[in-house]
Amino acid sequence: MRYQGREVDIEGRVRLVMESALTARDRVGVQDFVLLENYNSEAAFIENLRRRFRENLIYTYIGSVLVSVNPYKELEIYSKQQMERYRGVSFYEISPHIYALSDNTYRAMRTERKDQCILISGESGAGKTEASKKILLYYAVTCPTNDHMAILGDRLLQSNPVLEAFGNAKTLRNDNSSRFGKYMDVQFDFRGTPVGGHILNYLLEKSRVVHQNHGERNFHIFYQLLDGGDDDLLITLDLERNPQNYRYLVKGNCPRVSSISDKNNWKVVMKALPVIGFTEEEKLLNIIASVLHLGNTQFGEGEEGDTYITTETQTSNLAKLLGVDGSALREALTHKKLTAKGEEMISPLNYEQAVSARDALAKAVYGRTFTWLVEKINQSLALKVHKDSSVIGLLDIYGFEVLQQNSFEQFCINYCNEKLQQLPFVEAQRHHFHPGVYNNCQFICLTVYIMLYVPLSRVFKCNSVAVFQDEECLRPGETCDVSFLEKLEDTVGSHPHFITHKLANGKTRRVVSREEFRLLHYAGEVNYNVNGFLDKNNDLLNRNLKEVMCQSDNQILSHCFRREEVIDQKRPEMAATQFKNSLMKLMEILMSKEPSYVRCIKPNDAKQPGRFDEVLVRHQVKYLGLMENLRVRRAGFAYRRRFEAFLQRYKPLCPETWPNWHGRLVDGVSTLVNHLGYKAEEYKLGRSKIFIRFPKTLFTTEDALEYKI
Ligand code: ADP
Ligand code: MG
Repeated sequence: MRYQGREVDIEGRVRLVMESALTARDRVGVQDFVLLENYNSEAAFIENLRRRFRENLIYTYIGSVLVSVNPYKELEIYSKQQMERYRGVSFYEISPHIYALSDNTYRAMRTERKDQCILISGESGAGKTEASKKILLYYAVTCPTNDHMAILGDRLLQSNPVLEAFGNAKTLRNDNSSRFGKYMDVQFDFRGTPVGGHILNYLLEKSRVVHQNHGERNFHIFYQLLDGGDDDLLITLDLERNPQNYRYLVKGNCPRVSSISDKNNWKVVMKALPVIGFTEEEKLLNIIASVLHLGNTQFGEGEEGDTYITTETQTSNLAKLLGVDGSALREALTHKKLTAKGEEMISPLNYEQAVSARDALAKAVYGRTFTWLVEKINQSLALKVHKDSSVIGLLDIYGFEVLQQNSFEQFCINYCNEKLQQLPFVEAQRHHFHPGVYNNCQFICLTVYIMLYVPLSRVFKCNSVAVFQDEECLRPGETCDVSFLEKLEDTVGSHPHFITHKLANGKTRRVVSREEFRLLHYAGEVNYNVNGFLDKNNDLLNRNLKEVMCQSDNQILSHCFRREEVIDQKRPEMAATQFKNSLMKLMEILMSKEPSYVRCIKPNDAKQPGRFDEVLVRHQVKYLGLMENLRVRRAGFAYRRRFEAFLQRYKPLCPETWPNWHGRLVDGVSTLVNHLGYKAEEYKLGRSKIFIRFPKTLFTTEDALEYKI
């Protein structure tokens, strides 16, 4: 029996088969949201996610965007056999998977010879880092390789546990939360063999070194060292095993995490270090220990408001571990050096100043060591100068964050997300405006839509909050957070997406306190507290502490603290400006590549399998812009497929194209859709792709195929 497109009278038997296909759809939902009949309904969208999640189908597409829901349990879908299933298979022929996206990206890079990038977004705990690890593993396992390159693959994989030990921590939202943003390039030669890699790191949350909220921890490495280091090592480093003895580790009152074995992870990290070319282990461990000792350095107040160190022995050990002179360190922790009228003056710090100088040193030591570590890893991965090489970039960066109290860190993170959010729409513009596919009106609608969708960029572009903070910080004397707020009001107060207590005049629903400003992000409103905002941006380290550190005989530290920095009296760039600049560069990198997207969703806050909290999911669907994503796809032509792929898949449905079509591809596709009875308004043929307007069309064609097979 031949299926004749949808004009056919459906006989009993046919209907039965069709129905069973439908029943399956009822149970497991659709694997591409574009196939949802009620595509405007958020409820239908979430219902589809929920159904699939219940069946352990955590992946779903919106066209070429992969949506992933964290299962919070190990699924049997990541094996080597699974990888093989996805190799060289086109997106729509097989169930959605992170491997399908990895494979398609890889093939696009190979066939189109264009650099690619995969952008992974979602809130903390949604599964971004896991996704990026799976992509890397897929390449490490499936790409052609040789002995030499196998070492590289090993290094790529081994760099992960090291970076995670130093850059991840237990937070309330995720037991293994990345506290830095990561962009990684994997370079492939013309054969498709991975030959090099490079990592860019963004904005490590340094404040965590000296403070953690209740129920959270400092960076993993501290606990790993205390739990996993052998007795001799701890004696050498003058450390005790119990983390509760260290002031920098007790703030969150959470020394252990049930899902984490610090001891095992320590072993993993120690094993990984030599693989990624480390020979300076001892120096690195000295630094980690010194941060703990710094935290335990305590001060007393003298009678004249001066300060002295009450933990003398500790400080001697600390100096030894840092490789610096003990008395110079003591002096620098309790005094500051000023230059007035060309003369140097030493003045004592008061108690608070000494405490903050100490904390600033701990943050600087840790933060710079982290950056050094990334450099080291980069040396071991070393991008090769290769003709005809291309790269796939992976971006795993913190998602939009709204906490009880939001400060400078959230401001930077959300700013970053705001920027990244614009990217798909710029891309949509580039892609969708395929000649002849859009009429003028649709074109304009889409453009207006894109403009409306990226409103906040104007705040940053025209009045640049970040730049303006620099000016504020540059004022002589103490900075004042409240005057910062006033200045902010003067500068951007007229923007509809900015509001403060004063500007609100009781007009907003939720309260903005006197110390806050509120920004209306694409993902919703966030109140930022200005307390400590400028200090965090300033991120200053007293000059005499820098002087001490650059004389360290620990080569890692003397590399991190350069003499030029002390000599050069120019003010260093503020944290926000640095971040903004590195973000601009990141945007350029991403824009120069062909992007793919993974949108991660966290199904519940309890980190539990099987629980699908609808309110939580709805919120993420909203701020990940998934409904908009779907609408943009649907607004124009929902489905685009290359002629080859379309023919390959549906050729059994038409006698003229089966088993092989020998003419031009475009004619083959045309013959095929004519046979299937597609109407003119349902599709358009581009240069190399067919664009299908309504999912229903594809729906029916898919059903026909299912029946045929
Ligand atoms: P993010 O990087 O988005 O903050 P992670 O990738 O660290 O989140 O994921 C948080 C936790 O969720 C992981 O430690 C792991 O336990 C679980 N998880 C995430 N993705 C998966 C997955 N695909 N399969 C099983 N567990 C996962
Ligand atoms: Mg992460």
